[in-house]
Amino acid sequence: MDKELEDSLVKKYNYMFDEKETFSFSCDDGWYDLIDIALLKIKKADTTKEFRILQIKEKYGMLCLYGNRENKKIQDIVSKAEDVSLKICEICGKDACLCVKGMWYKTLCQTCREKYGYKIAS
Ligand SMILES: [Zn+2]
Repeated sequence: MDKELEDSLVKKYNYMFDEKETFSFSCDDGWYDLIDIALLKIKKADTTKEFRILQIKEKYGMLCLYGNRENKKIQDIVSKAEDVSLKICEICGKDACLCVKGMWYKTLCQTCREKYGYKIAS
């Protein structure tokens, strides 16, 4: 993800990131809003401010947000965001579906799918 976008998330949800200097988001910019909204909901649900994000990445075309998920409410927010990621283009944020190129899965809109040579995954 773009460094400025990453920094703005780290700034907004500062307490969730333990190792701010080395934390990296292993996904593209199209999921910025999705992550932003999920973290905002978590912040509200996290009354004890104990939630820490361990990793944010893309895996098989899906957003994965790993944290210390003690709280059931937070677990639900995270799994909902992960589900929704399969409908949002990871590159540009438009409506998308899961695509495949060889061994690689990525959730892409039609434009990005054609641009990067992916096909809709069956
Ligand atoms: Zn796209």
